[in-house]
Amino acid sequence: MTAYDPNNIFAKILAGTIPSVKLYEDEDTLAFMDVMPQAPGHLLVIPKQGSRNLLDADPAVLAKLMPVVQKLANAAKEAFEADGIYIAQFNEPSAGQTVFHLHFHVIPRHEGVPLKP
Ligand code: ADP
Repeated sequence: MTAYDPNNIFAKILAGTIPSVKLYEDEDTLAFMDVMPQAPGHLLVIPKQGSRNLLDADPAVLAKLMPVVQKLANAAKEAFEADGIYIAQFNEPSAGQTVFHLHFHVIPRHEGVPLKP
């Protein structure tokens, strides 16, 4: 398994060395707006503990993270008057992962409106 790289861009957001539009923070979790949203309201939820992706994540970390994903999915659905919420999570480059710190995409969806590429 590939080791976690603590110099990834989300680690820098956690360290405060690069900016982000923060939406939610607690002891274990941070959520912020995606810089290249695929739809209005596209946000990301990450654990503060470093793991490369879901494959190497500590289940105890996931247990704290997923309620936040659920909470923010409901909040985004209401705030953006969405018909549904798309949750995406990619593991390794072959699956589309480009930032190597575990994250969940939360993307409001509207009937008949495609995602931006
Ligand atoms: P993909 O790039 O294929 O969506 P990931 O699941 O690894 O793969 O997603 C990384 C996400 O991080 C992308 O949606 C990208 O727009 C977002 N992103 C990259 N840099 C930043 C940043 N500095 N602040 C917020 N979001 C970022």
